[in-house]
Amino acid sequence: MTQSIAQALWAALGEAKVRTDAETLNARRHDYWVLSHVRDHVGTPGPPPVCVVRPADVADVQTTLRLASAAAAPVIPFGQGSGVVGGVLAGADSILLDMGAMNAVRSIDPVNLLAAFDAGKNGLEAEQAVAAEGLTIGHWPQSVAVSSVGGWVATRASGQFSTAYGNIEDIVHSIDAVLPDGEFVVLGKGPRASSGPDLRHLMLGSEGTLGVITGVTLSLRRAAEARLVSAFEVADMRAGFDFQREVIQSGWRPPVVRQYDGRESRRLDSRAQACLILMVHEGPATLVGAESAAVAQIAARMGVAKAPGDIVEAWLDHRNTVPTWDAFLGRGIVLDTVEVSADWDRIALIYDDAVASLQAIPGCLAGSAHSSHVYRSGLNLYFTFAVQTDEPGRMEAIYLDGWRRIMEATDRHGGSLSHHHGIGRVRREYLTRELGLAGVSLLQKVKKALDPHGIMNPGALIPDA
Ligand SMILES: Cc1cc2nc3c(=O)[nH]c(=O)nc-3n(C[C@H](O)[C@H](O)[C@H](O)COP(=O)(O)OP(=O)(O)OC[C@H]3O[C@@H](n4cnc5c(N)ncnc54)[C@H](O)[C@@H]3O)c2cc1C
Repeated sequence: MTQSIAQALWAALGEAKVRTDAETLNARRHDYWVLSHVRDHVGTPGPPPVCVVRPADVADVQTTLRLASAAAAPVIPFGQGSGVVGGVLAGADSILLDMGAMNAVRSIDPVNLLAAFDAGKNGLEAEQAVAAEGLTIGHWPQSVAVSSVGGWVATRASGQFSTAYGNIEDIVHSIDAVLPDGEFVVLGKGPRASSGPDLRHLMLGSEGTLGVITGVTLSLRRAAEARLVSAFEVADMRAGFDFQREVIQSGWRPPVVRQYDGRESRRLDSRAQACLILMVHEGPATLVGAESAAVAQIAARMGVAKAPGDIVEAWLDHRNTVPTWDAFLGRGIVLDTVEVSADWDRIALIYDDAVASLQAIPGCLAGSAHSSHVYRSGLNLYFTFAVQTDEPGRMEAIYLDGWRRIMEATDRHGGSLSHHHGIGRVRREYLTRELGLAGVSLLQKVKKALDPHGIMNPGALIPDA
């Protein structure tokens, strides 16, 4: 069956768009998920897909999904492979749908402040295209240079400037998609609508399980007129959370607000004594001036000390560095980063509980966190754990144990189990805790209705019925 689907795709799309050579298949086995890299490292790599399809347009995507539906062959959409939760994991019978050839800038509209892109467009290239017109998407995930516009939507991504500019769901104007049966839909119209449920949310966070995003129209901003930075230092995480809450609930929206615990603060800047808070103020010059002055006043009133602004400048310069896992794995170090969120009244409990639990792992080198996205009702935490072992055979178990400790600590105190990386395969077993049994059942019904043959990215996001 597997070879016959490759042959059918070959006949329908042509040789150039359906690759079966070992090098291409091997390069598309998985995304950036640490566990896939651990499995490669310890000599238990997953299988390659049957073929890699590179559609050139919507019609190619429709053809692929119709043939896959008829053959009940799994289809795994691939943007740029920067996902970190195992959203892309080839199965031996799967078609890997690489969106990389659908990479056009379709239009830039400076009147309505809209830009339309093919879904496979690289994020940084998309930003550069609008920057040339004096505009910005304002969406800056650390992975901006190695992720796609369609991938941002599929994972509900967040950028570093989210506090003022919003997460991807606040930036998306409309989404084009092909459903599993091959039907093409356009979801979203106008700046806002009250036309029933917002169907864009079927694709936002769908992680390739409900269809293929083929195009995305994003709502832009004019490039900021002015930028100022502020830095502060607080004695502990609780004092920092109180300060952030006061700033945000007073009505100020610095696009970047980041708070590092003591360990991460020292890693960021050796002068740090305790917990650093970094802010970037951006926008019209009068607003930027007023905001930075108001935040400084709040800090003075709350006894929060200033820190050198060059720490923020250094962060701005190095913020989009993409690490590789292999050097760590080669030294027996299992590591990952895990993001969660919670309301103000529980965030410190989660921080304390999860960090203590991580630091109790035998061989723990690091168990730390920072926050990077703040809201009126709470904020996220972004944990890092690193554990060293001299037993390669235990790496997978150690990895899953680190994750379990963060998920359980977050769940214990009523937090949300993912802020922006998505569910993929690593969090799938925890989804019932997040959505409840009824919520998971609803998601399964939506999946069944849209994808009756279960072809779209099986094993990701949605637990089996
Ligand atoms: C160093 C590093 C830093 C990161 N920083 C951030 C960050 O700051 N903020 C953040 O939100 N994330 C971050 N990420 C995670 C990742 O970059 C995002 O999840 C990103 O949105 C994934 O985009 P991608 O194109 O690489 O998607 P992929 O990894 O290719 O795919 C991710 C998921 O989306 C699905 N998918 C991809 N394209 C489509 C499509 N066209 N249609 C349907 N489904 C599709 C895939 O099947 C998969 O389930 C980071 C990752 C790394 C490695």
